[in-house]
Amino acid sequence: MSKKIPVIQIDPGTQKLEVYGKSKGVTTTDLYASRTKIYAKKVTGLFQKIRKFSLWMLIASYFSICWISINGQQIVHFDLPARQFHIFGITFWPQEFVLLSLLLIICAFGLFFVTTLFGRIWCGYTCPQTSWTFIYMWIEEKVEGSRNQRIKLDKADFSIQKLAKKVTKHVLWLFVAFGTGLTFVGYFYPVRELVPDLFTLNVTDGWSLFWIGFFTLATYINAGWLREQVCMYMCPYARFQSVMFDENTLVVSYDADRGDPRGSRKRNTDYKDKDLGDCIDCNLCVQVCPTGIDIRDGLQYECIGCALCIDACDSIMDKMKYPPGLISYTTEKKLEGKESRILRPKSVAYAVVLSLMICSFAYSIITRVPLELDVIKDRGALYQLTGLGKIENSYILKIMNMSDHNMEFEISVEGIESLHITTQTQVSVKSGEVYILPTSIEADPEKMKTNHYTIEFTVQALNEELSATSESRFLGTAD
Ligand code: SF4
Ligand code: SF4
Repeated sequence: MSKKIPVIQIDPGTQKLEVYGKSKGVTTTDLYASRTKIYAKKVTGLFQKIRKFSLWMLIASYFSICWISINGQQIVHFDLPARQFHIFGITFWPQEFVLLSLLLIICAFGLFFVTTLFGRIWCGYTCPQTSWTFIYMWIEEKVEGSRNQRIKLDKADFSIQKLAKKVTKHVLWLFVAFGTGLTFVGYFYPVRELVPDLFTLNVTDGWSLFWIGFFTLATYINAGWLREQVCMYMCPYARFQSVMFDENTLVVSYDADRGDPRGSRKRNTDYKDKDLGDCIDCNLCVQVCPTGIDIRDGLQYECIGCALCIDACDSIMDKMKYPPGLISYTTEKKLEGKESRILRPKSVAYAVVLSLMICSFAYSIITRVPLELDVIKDRGALYQLTGLGKIENSYILKIMNMSDHNMEFEISVEGIESLHITTQTQVSVKSGEVYILPTSIEADPEKMKTNHYTIEFTVQALNEELSATSESRFLGTAD
């Protein structure tokens, strides 16, 4: 039987959606739905313990890592003026940004892999938006009380007590936001200089003040006011991760076969007689949800996989003496009564690609030489004849010490018999320094069989097994 497709029209003036159906006539829907404030109820349980641990660990890491230094070097420092990124003992230079890009691709692939297997576990347990919303909600609860107390407070008329609670909450939120902004900037400016300079009003760099202010405001707005709206309307990852889902991906789901029909009942009554399922329709799973959805309506993109509803429902099941797991981490296949598989083409492909990338990154890091030599031939003069009848070529040597300590180097050149350096052959290069060394070399024209040779410069570290080479051209005239 053919089905009539309703005509849908958007009125640009009123921004209303008009649906023309044959049976129901014209129905009008507002395109704009104002936000309903969510008062999430506190819940405890196994997943919340894991979640709390993971979120507090991440928050603590964020606030502390920039303060850790080894040999005077901040272990994570994105030093933009020096164009060096120090990440856990490895310094990435501009010419190594391909390695840094590989690291970022590995992180992205790791996220895809985890999402394919475990769904939105990143969103529920590790995402910064979730972490900071978690702190903000924790503060809110400490200051304004439980869900019911917060609802009551918001409905109450103005009073000094209400004002005091609201002001306290916002001051604490701003304090956390400021700490977040300051710490963020501390990953780009040396934090041990930035913080004292800031508190003694000695900061001379306007940009650092701008970014502290920017991230303070962004944190306050995102975690305090926007919260779940960031996940629902702003986060691109929330939108495209459904592509990585399949029927074997772990999702938070309500078992409708077991739970429906829903209905309240007394404890220890034989509800099966009343043709009821296990769901007592207490609504607790909705009250605890930070995005305000009802998981019983099926999988929704707003669900961040935080498992608060699982813990809430399990606590109810426990009280009712029913088995847990009415809401659980499961897969579409399991819900259909089929067997779910972890090993499947998509997950295997992600695992293989991820392993290859990790291995190649590890190999590049292990075999990485923290020394680079660039040779630039002087283009002003192709060659010169010296007073003693030798042929001289000039070069600029750029010696880059990418290690974490100062080093002495010996410079040599080879490629033609009698070729030797006539300028300085030993240099001391500081850690992180690019040493520019004008160098001249000369050869005996009698030993030259052609007008141009490929030659090789070598810088060899004294007292260390470390060297770098670079090729160039030697020009002259064969006798
Ligand atoms: S439905 Fe459950 S898992 Fe999804 S966001 Fe709400 S509480 Fe978290
Ligand atoms: S918490 Fe469990 S029992 Fe209560 S409404 Fe939700 S699914 Fe039903």
